[in-house]
Amino acid sequence: MTDVIANKNVKASPDTFDVGIIGGGLAGLSLSILLARAGYKIILFEKEKYPFHRVCGEYISLESRKFIESLGCELFQLGLPVIKKLIVSAPNGDFIKANLGLGGFGVSRFLIDNELKKIAVKHGVTLLEETKVTDLAFNNDSFEIVYNGGKISSAVVSGSFGKRSNLDVKWKRDFIKQKPGKLNNYIGVKYHVKTSFPFDTIALHNFKNGYCGISKVEGDSYCLCYLTTAQNLKENNNSLKEMERNILYKNPFLKNIFSESEFLFPEPVTISQISFDRKMQVENHVLMTGDAAGMITPLSGNGMSMALHSSKIVAEFITPFLNKSIARNEMENRYEQEWKKNFGKRLFAGRMIQKLFGKEFITNRFIGFVKHFPFIINGMVNATHGREF
Ligand SMILES: Cc1cc2nc3c(=O)[nH]c(=O)nc-3n(C[C@H](O)[C@H](O)[C@H](O)COP(=O)(O)OP(=O)(O)OC[C@H]3O[C@@H](n4cnc5c(N)ncnc54)[C@H](O)[C@@H]3O)c2cc1C
Repeated sequence: MTDVIANKNVKASPDTFDVGIIGGGLAGLSLSILLARAGYKIILFEKEKYPFHRVCGEYISLESRKFIESLGCELFQLGLPVIKKLIVSAPNGDFIKANLGLGGFGVSRFLIDNELKKIAVKHGVTLLEETKVTDLAFNNDSFEIVYNGGKISSAVVSGSFGKRSNLDVKWKRDFIKQKPGKLNNYIGVKYHVKTSFPFDTIALHNFKNGYCGISKVEGDSYCLCYLTTAQNLKENNNSLKEMERNILYKNPFLKNIFSESEFLFPEPVTISQISFDRKMQVENHVLMTGDAAGMITPLSGNGMSMALHSSKIVAEFITPFLNKSIARNEMENRYEQEWKKNFGKRLFAGRMIQKLFGKEFITNRFIGFVKHFPFIINGMVNATHGREF
């Protein structure tokens, strides 16, 4: 963080908030609703304009259904697809089927984020869309948040800015400084398609150095989303089409999906520089939530539930701090401990699974082996999922 007073281009504003939330994904939106409903003065910054598409597999574990409903979100009345079955295929086309236990549901981020945004605004959250936070300073037990257009102060700040943001780079967070390796430098690509595929199933199709998920969302669309290494793209002249044809199509399931489906976006939604390296949950007194606190590998299909759950947990410590019943360091320490208790093992399991599914040969052998022992897949699903919260 730098000294914001030195920034002469910024116009001063008298506004003071209880909590400033940077980033309006599932973590930031849900936190803003919880705290605004409890009577606090909340400001939420989002650099994009709702509704918008973002890279995500759009399969949400049912462990978060109760919490989403408790926020006042009535999406379930739309009859969203409930997903209870899993297919995992190897690059050579060998595959295994398993039941998902609790399972999940499918909904686009375009829809659910926008629904939560409307609820946040209804509860009095000051929402600044198309507004990027560029700096932050902590002085005399309060924050100054600088954004493109002004600055405000707040007693608490939540960093809910996702996998990688300008602030991670500015603060030189540890994961930004890591050299490219096995757990960082991934790219994500998402399409919506119309296709023929069972609505109650999610499939994860592996290919060399990546995997691609397909599952139903609302309406008659399916989300088709893959994660792979930046290296895979580079080796294919930085062309997604070329990489898809040369690498993904080697898995017969993917060749079939990509050649037979109707693609609904003119261009895919993409992101780069994804990292699964460890992160700190509190940095410079900023309470990190969602992916900004630690990102689970998408293979586990559970990042959204973790983002929502981390907000529920952090709200439980922000409230007594604002009510002056605990001190700032107690709020920070207890949040960090509770975060690790809830998510530490899951992230570890996710990293191990990510390593296992990276290599073509190992994945082929692994799927060939576990298809005789489907309980192993169930064990892996359980290791990366939590209970209803
Ligand atoms: C390829 C892929 C597939 C995935 N599939 C699934 C899946 O099927 N199921 C699942 O549960 N999870 C999945 N995930 C993970 C899931 O998408 C994330 O865990 C989840 O989106 C985290 O939510 P969040 O609120 O922390 O961050 P985000 O949803 O990323 O929101 C962060 C927000 O912060 C904003 N922002 C950033 N910097 C600033 C700034 N300086 N100022 C203002 N705004 C800012 C961004 O615009 C963004 O809207 C997947 C991830 C990837 C990469």
